Amino acid sequence: MKVVSLFLLFLYGHIFAQQVQDVDFLKAEATIQPIFSEKKVKGTVKYTFKVLQKTDSVYLDAINMQITKVALEGVQAKAEANKIWLIGPFVKDREYVAFFNYEANPKQTMYFIEDQVWTQGQGKYTSHWLPSIDDMNDKIEFDLTIAAPMGTTVMANGSLKSATERNGLTYWDWDMQQPMSSYLVAFAIGNFKKKSLTSTSGIPIDLYYHPKDSAKVEPTYRYTKVLFDFFETEIGLPYPWQNYKQVPVRDFLYAGMENTTATIFSEAFVVDSIGFNDRSYVNVNAHELAHQWFGNLVTETEGTHHWLHEGFATYYALLAEKNIYGEDYYYWKLYNSAEQLIELSEQGKGESLLNPKASSLTFYEKGAWALHILNELVGEEAFSEAIQNYLHRHQFKNVTTQDFLNEVKAVSNKDIARWEADWLQQSAFKAEQAYTSLIESDFIRDYFEATALRRIPLSEKIIQLKTALTFPNDFIGQEAIYQLDGEPISATIALYKKGFESNNLYVRQAIAMSLEIIPKQLRVEYESLLDDASYVTQEAALYLLCSQFPENRTLYLDKLKQVEGFQNKNIRQLWLYIAINSDGFSESEKKQFFQELEAYTTSKYSFEVRELAFAYMLQFKPYSEVFLRSLVNGSVHHYWRFRDVARNMLAEVMTEAAAYATVVSLLESFSEKEQNYLKSKFELK
Ligand SMILES: [Zn+2]
Repeated sequence: MKVVSLFLLFLYGHIFAQQVQDVDFLKAEATIQPIFSEKKVKGTVKYTFKVLQKTDSVYLDAINMQITKVALEGVQAKAEANKIWLIGPFVKDREYVAFFNYEANPKQTMYFIEDQVWTQGQGKYTSHWLPSIDDMNDKIEFDLTIAAPMGTTVMANGSLKSATERNGLTYWDWDMQQPMSSYLVAFAIGNFKKKSLTSTSGIPIDLYYHPKDSAKVEPTYRYTKVLFDFFETEIGLPYPWQNYKQVPVRDFLYAGMENTTATIFSEAFVVDSIGFNDRSYVNVNAHELAHQWFGNLVTETEGTHHWLHEGFATYYALLAEKNIYGEDYYYWKLYNSAEQLIELSEQGKGESLLNPKASSLTFYEKGAWALHILNELVGEEAFSEAIQNYLHRHQFKNVTTQDFLNEVKAVSNKDIARWEADWLQQSAFKAEQAYTSLIESDFIRDYFEATALRRIPLSEKIIQLKTALTFPNDFIGQEAIYQLDGEPISATIALYKKGFESNNLYVRQAIAMSLEIIPKQLRVEYESLLDDASYVTQEAALYLLCSQFPENRTLYLDKLKQVEGFQNKNIRQLWLYIAINSDGFSESEKKQFFQELEAYTTSKYSFEVRELAFAYMLQFKPYSEVFLRSLVNGSVHHYWRFRDVARNMLAEVMTEAAAYATVVSLLESFSEKEQNYLKSKFELK
């Protein structure tokens, strides 16, 4: 029932823009059943809404949904491609209740990935799977019941009231007590277990994980309680929701998403204690948690004020990291983001923080900088009071930049007009002001002194570099190593030795990443990098050692034969690639290695694993059938970045006659979506 008369369209045009003023949706109680085999969703939803102004019609956003049943007395319902209309009359100040049964094949927002289903509402529309209001300004209490296959686990917004079995499914009944914007509604289904903590204030915190990753729970979620307690104290307003939960999922589109009480994040952050040193979840963990206040509790009215979400979450995550890693780290991150912002600004591409189309760099990093400077300007006490008043006054409501500024002005007698012009309105980045703030830090002054040595010949700075490598600060020590790059090796041996001896993980990593040839005199030291607690270091060292000293390959490979590396299996995949190309293994062993590497290209693995496997498999010709199938499959993946990689590689591979012939011969066996892509791209019939 998708036909609607021109008359109706005309009539609704006016209401479309103003519904938030006419109708207030209060509560949604939905039962959602994802159908894994068909990648579709069946649901029933009950909406309670209050009519604020007499009106003839009320809509809900509902994209390509088949409404199978509607119940609301005295009301007619119509489904359009993107909306469900309820045709009244509706009386001012009266509450109504409407029920729908519906089905949909969500093209986005809800994703079926192997044995998981998860949602992503921001940047997409929740109305792909749940009739709702795609407008941040209508905050609704969403109570979800998710029907999932028995044996799987569900996480969703709010607290779990019950999980009951009916008709071969488990119904997970979740309860929210406060309203939120619809982009924050979420759930995830999968094979998960959880570890439970409690914040010092008594809020339950559940940390979900895949059973195979049970040994990685501690390093992955390290500092979670510290972060939580820190935010409650620092922000000064208690955590506003019933509980907090986090779950890592496969093939996620972003680093993390701050769904209310229910953060979903990328499985790539699941690390062991070695991976933690290179790629920890701490920053994302802090960022999404900060959003529970900044974004979820107080929500922008529109994109112009997006920095109230991202700038604040970035700034508060930085404060939380300062609390854990110390002040040097805080300034180091500010310095790095300033460098990026200065570069953007110097290219004439600087953006105002109030530009709704600004880049992430602006919303996140310039936003954090603006708050850092504001905090310095008005002082910590006033800043903190303003934040508390701002959150308290507007909790569970929507906000503009002006709302925040009003609170700052109310508690501080400092004139912030200049700051507004410089940091909110102006598009260029205030580099000098940032620099003045940075050199407040002793560490940054020392670091700048170290970078100033870049212009000085090596022979004149040996003593300074030696000092920098003797009791190294992570960043200054790395800087000293980078300054050895391109210098005659005979003049640098002693300094590299100092670097190795420092036993500083990041200084040694800088050596692994920057040395292109291993001098004979450093071979033993270089070999010791294989034992470092860093998968970045191990990967670089294994590669260079095996290329430069092929006679020792078996020895090096033996050392790392049990190591997987990051979630993308960086060490394992490199290991296989080298082993396949080595003499030390039999043909049947090599065949096994090849099959293992080949399997990593398939959809049984995450796109991070697959992307790396693609790069290795490209080296082996003729291309195998499994690999070609994986490239075709990757070319229709839901995640555009990975899809582009697969498409570009497929295009390259298809220029070879043998690969082209294989793909043509397999055409019939591909899915409809894959066939359509191949046909349109390569003119196959
Ligand atoms: Zn964010």
